[in-house]
Parts: sequence; structure tokens; C-alpha cells
Amino acid sequence: MLSNGGHWAMLRTAAIAGALLVAGFAVASCNGNGNGNGNGSKADANGKVTVVYEANTIKPEDRQAVTVIRKSRVLEQAADWVNKSVALPHDLVVKVTDKVPPGVTDAVTQPDGRTIFVPPPFLTQIQEALSNVVKTVKRPALFPQSSYNADDLTALSTQFIFGHEMGHALQRQLLLPNLGLEEDAADGFASFYTVNEVGPGPSLAAAILFDEIARKEGKLTLEGLSSDHPVTQQRVFNFLCYLEGSDQKRFYESLVGAGYLPKTRAPLCPQAWAMLNYGWWSQLQPHFSREFKDQGDKAQESARDQLIAETKAFEENLDEIRSGQ
Ligand SMILES: [Zn+2]
Repeated sequence: MLSNGGHWAMLRTAAIAGALLVAGFAVASCNGNGNGNGNGSKADANGKVTVVYEANTIKPEDRQAVTVIRKSRVLEQAADWVNKSVALPHDLVVKVTDKVPPGVTDAVTQPDGRTIFVPPPFLTQIQEALSNVVKTVKRPALFPQSSYNADDLTALSTQFIFGHEMGHALQRQLLLPNLGLEEDAADGFASFYTVNEVGPGPSLAAAILFDEIARKEGKLTLEGLSSDHPVTQQRVFNFLCYLEGSDQKRFYESLVGAGYLPKTRAPLCPQAWAMLNYGWWSQLQPHFSREFKDQGDKAQESARDQLIAETKAFEENLDEIRSGQ
């Protein structure tokens, strides 16, 4: 199975991508203070995020899903938050369009972080999966009855998925240092942005969608296990863990008590959320816009305090947690 031609082709592709990355790094290093240590010019960067719907490219069968997203303004909300908070070095154009690069079928961010493509058939697929969910999956009590329909779930899960792409765009434009896989960091930004700025809806809707996708994927494959993304079902639990950890008093009963997030994972979630929240505020801090700097600095400082407090609390309960596993 390992000698299968497809896998060797994948390895080759990875080797080439590695070479390109090294080349890219060399160019960036020659660029002197371009991404160096706080020369005071970052806040002057004035790249802006814009969202464009290329309506004339969209096929009739995808118009319904696109209308749902357009009306919900979830893409514009994320764009507004980044425009307000972050001084981007370059413009970022978000294109909802059928005119995508060859082979693109999902939402993708280009390597330079300056274009995000959202293909309309991808939105239709999400909506179809969620139409099936509302007919076949019992609504989690935490998720409001009034939003448990295909359209609202599509908008909320797209808000999370778009947060993931925005995470990629920020990492690539700002050359953020990664201490783990970029895909994990992108999922992390989706949690960071939506939990802080929107509420629990996007994380829950994304968990509901990814759970359905995992069911459709069925048995784990070699490609799935070796993906640069965590396996789909694991991402469901990551989304829920960050949400639960962000406010355990509010979410423990409805997520852990109700059996959606296992009791073995739950004790780690408050500290995991605190690390993520502190991590993203700290990553973005050198790139805050002038108007956001005071507010952002305060958020970073309070995230730091929270991380220290959660680490202490975790330490105090560690014996009990370990004995309970
Ligand atoms: Zn990604």
C-alpha cells in the first residue's frame, strides 16, 4: 500500500513545496526590516480586506447557498474585524466566485495571503450536508431551536470556516511564527475570532457540520491520517474543547454533561483555551492598528493573566484529574 504511486507523488509534491518555502524564507530574510523586530512602522501598514461576490460567475444551482451567506454578512463581519484591528501589509480580496484556480473545490487562501477563494459549489455542499443534519440529527440542547435549520447552520458554520481561512491569510501576510502545524493554527484562529467576537454559534455549527462530514468519510484512510489537518472527528472535539474551555461555568453541563465532549478531554480545555487566546492576542499584538492598540493591548494582558490563573488551577487539580482518567 505504501508503494502506491499516488503516495509517492504526494511525497514528491511535499519535497518541492519544502524547497519553495526555503526559497521564500531566503527572500524574506534579505528584506531587512520588512518583518523584523518592531521598527514602529507596522501600524502604518494599510492593507484592507474586501469581500467581492462575482455574481455573474455563479451557477443557478449555487445561488441559494450564496444568497444565504451574502445576507448573513458573515464574511463582511470577519473582514470588518480584521480591518479595524490589524494593520495588514497588503490588501486581501475575498472572492465568492466560480473563477477559481485549477483544482480548487473548497475555500482556500493563496500562499501570499492576499486572496481567499470561496467557491459557490462548496457553499452548496455545506448547505446540503446541513439540510440532511437537521432531518437526521437530534438538536443539541445548547443550540437554539430557532437557528436549527439548514440556512442558519450554513451561515454559522461558514463563519467558522471563513475564520479558518482568515487565520491562514493573517499567518501568511504577517509571517507569523508557527510552533505547530499551520492548519491547527488556522482552526485556532477560527475559534479565537468567533468565540470572542460572535459567541458559541459558529463553533457549534462547525462541530455539527464536521461531525456529519466525518460520518460521510467513514473509515479513516492513510491519506486522512497523514493529512496536515487533524482528522475530521478530532477537529470536532477541538472546536468543542475551546468553546467549553472559554467559559466552563456556562458550557460544562451542555457540552460535557450532555455527552458531546468526553470527560477525559474536558479538564484540559480551560487551559487550552487560555493558551490559544493568549497566543493569538500575542501574535497579533505587533500588528495592531493604531486605533485598536489600546484595546488590543488590554485584551492581550488579560489573556495573559487568564493563562497564568488557568495554569495554576490546572496544577492544583492535577492529581485529581490524573487519578480520574
Ligand atoms: Zn486550512
